[in-house]
Amino acid sequence: MPEPALSTHELLDLDRRHVWHPYGPMPGRQEPLVVESASGVRLRLADGGGELVDGMSSWWSAIHGYNHPVLNDAARGQLDRMSHVMFGGLTHEPAVRLAKHLVDMSPEGLEHVFLADSGSVSVEVAVKMCLQYWRSLGRPEKHKLLTWRGGYHGDTWQPMSVCDPEGGMHELWSGALPRQVFAEAPPAAYEESYAEHLRDAIARHAHEVAAVIVEPVVQGAGGMRFHSPAYLRVLREACDAHGVLLVFDEIATGFGRTGELFAAGHAGVTPDVMCVGKALTGGYLTLAATLCTERVAHGISRGEVPVLAHGPTFMGNPLAAAVACASIELLLGQDWRTEVKRIEGGLSDGLAGLSGAPGVRDVRVLGAIGVVQLDHEIDMAAATRAAVAEGVWLRPFRDLVYTMPPFITNDADVARICRAVTAAAKAG
Ligand SMILES: *Cc1c(COP(=O)(O)O)cnc(C)c1O
Repeated sequence: MPEPALSTHELLDLDRRHVWHPYGPMPGRQEPLVVESASGVRLRLADGGGELVDGMSSWWSAIHGYNHPVLNDAARGQLDRMSHVMFGGLTHEPAVRLAKHLVDMSPEGLEHVFLADSGSVSVEVAVKMCLQYWRSLGRPEKHKLLTWRGGYHGDTWQPMSVCDPEGGMHELWSGALPRQVFAEAPPAAYEESYAEHLRDAIARHAHEVAAVIVEPVVQGAGGMRFHSPAYLRVLREACDAHGVLLVFDEIATGFGRTGELFAAGHAGVTPDVMCVGKALTGGYLTLAATLCTERVAHGISRGEVPVLAHGPTFMGNPLAAAVACASIELLLGQDWRTEVKRIEGGLSDGLAGLSGAPGVRDVRVLGAIGVVQLDHEIDMAAATRAAVAEGVWLRPFRDLVYTMPPFITNDADVARICRAVTAAAKAG
């Protein structure tokens, strides 16, 4: 006999007492909304609480919306064959097909794929690849990372060390986190003086730096900042000139979100290592991947320890890989570029009225990403309530109200999201 379902009241009480939420205190202080189911772009709330249009794609991931028949079929089909087998000594079609898809669709030259369980782990693997590459070439002193401020690369240890030092809780962990090299945050527009700053930082630290790691074009959770793709070419050239590897963290930007399949495509640059995650499975299951070039893989293979010593228990999980294949095929099988452009237009129109409004510092849109930056820290509870009153789910933070809707969001729902962003910005 299944246990009787919890009442919403009981559920919330247990949640508050026992369950950590992202960046949350224990016990919890704010009451989360209880979601019963989700379909298309809508989250259905428990207790007849109605539906909310999801303006967040569950943190960049649900690009095709929820409960998608094609992704459901892929999951069910794979479930009937096997949901998991170990990847050590065994292989299977979903993982191999996924790797082939990723190699085919990613920037030219990325040939090898390491499947990881989450974005943060894929960044750990990227860091391990870069450090091991230099170790294998007899340069173990090249073990630092260089990045620009304002970034976010995940919450495990190495990724945390390259998150923005102010937003990333470096103070709390001073003395414990590895100390990396930080350049200034990239300006939005191309400025030769900033390009020079990047070149100079790379030149000065090349003797101790294994890799430069950045989020290309859009810095996500570190502050939703956009920058000129031309900086990526500056990084590529400086890294090549000074013997430093280049890592692009495309975990947020990948799979069409910025209007290119990968943000690196805005600059025509191939990194040495690239991380993907978030939208990889269309938001169904946790999965990420680290891709690298032949040069990086061969460098590692030439070392005293010629293997990449990493192997998560759930590596290459067939269920997640099968859904990822279906999600990629769904994306590439449609005119995603037109859909993202359409949403970009809707966000630009719908948010234009906020430009120059009191309390608003900046409004920016790129691809299916809309950002309103305030001139003050937002009242998150009030802003969230205002969005919910408009029938939309948003998750503002710091001085930001932002949205990255599923690509299937129709024009009326995009307009509704813009009304909610406006209401949240005014309320918070
Ligand atoms: C979300 C994110 C990560 C971390 O991914 P998780 O799956 O949450 O571990 C890393 N880098 C970027 C750019 C991200 O947006």
